[in-house]
Amino acid sequence: MGIFGDEAITGFGEFHVGTNLREGGVDLGLRGKFVDASLPVRKAFVVAEMFLAEVEKVIRRRARRHCLTGDRTAAGREALMSWRWPGGFECPACGGRAYCELGKRSLWQCNRCHTQTSLTAGTIFAGTKLDLAVWFRAMFHMTQTKQGISALELSRRIDVSYNTAWKLHHKLRQVMLERELQKPLEGRVEMDDAYLGGARSGGKRGRGSPGKVPFVAAVETTSDGKARRVKLRRVKRFTRKAIKAVTQRIVAPGAHVVTDGYRPFNGVAEAGCEHQPIITGSGRKTARHPAFRAVNTVLANIKTAIASTFRSGAKKHAPRRLAEFAWRFNRRYDLTAMVPRLAWVALRTPPMPYRLLTLAEAHG
Ligand SMILES: [Zn+2]
Repeated sequence: MGIFGDEAITGFGEFHVGTNLREGGVDLGLRGKFVDASLPVRKAFVVAEMFLAEVEKVIRRRARRHCLTGDRTAAGREALMSWRWPGGFECPACGGRAYCELGKRSLWQCNRCHTQTSLTAGTIFAGTKLDLAVWFRAMFHMTQTKQGISALELSRRIDVSYNTAWKLHHKLRQVMLERELQKPLEGRVEMDDAYLGGARSGGKRGRGSPGKVPFVAAVETTSDGKARRVKLRRVKRFTRKAIKAVTQRIVAPGAHVVTDGYRPFNGVAEAGCEHQPIITGSGRKTARHPAFRAVNTVLANIKTAIASTFRSGAKKHAPRRLAEFAWRFNRRYDLTAMVPRLAWVALRTPPMPYRLLTLAEAHG
């Protein structure tokens, strides 16, 4: 049994076992003993379990070195500590590196400015009453399946109340959302308009209906049209202005963006990208055009993963829901690295009190 529990791992078909876990250019310090290899799912089960055991060993070794008790909570804290301050302690107030530890309260005090900080202060973990191991297990369950899981399902698997699971679920989705706002798409990009909740065809395009949530799907592809990374951004409605604003956020200037002839996509060129509209004729023929193969594949996946279970009541949290899908999709070949990478970003995501968590996410 690993620190993430002994749950079964469901794979994506195949994935790479990372030997060098990095996030944001920083080595996470968890080096596996496995070489990069594409594995069929059956083997991946075994390797993923071995890898998690390996991660736990590394963490325990560190815990011992720091004379901690070596239990799961301490191991979790050790892991977070090394991910938060990979180069050693750094005062969040003044950047000072000298500190003393105020043992019992688990606080670090800066020698220069005397600011006291805890491991989780100023991060998404701030103020949590949960054991860190529970957080790790939630991260594990939320990242290891293609569809993701509901808050209700999460509450069953990690054995916490629905409310607790809901908060964990949304906090971790928020982490994914903030991460997905970075690193714009480059090179060749396929872009299309889509909806959550309600059929894509039928009704006039661009006209919102009460239950529908419009969003832009953009997929960075290889030169031969294979999906590489995806960005999904909710919009109020499809207008040229909205497309321009979204393009500026998610696509790097100078990228080559392919869309169909839908008028609002003229906003792409205004955002400083090279725009190639492909006129596919009337109706939704885009779905069959080879120039949109990658974006159509992604949209079909979203339909299975989100749209079929999407309730209009969840409308205000659609940006997080979309970001969660994108986050997992963009890391689909590196299943074992997902938990440490998510934890790394979580430590760099500001706290999210319940009051803020329940508000609708900003979008556009
Ligand atoms: Zn300081």
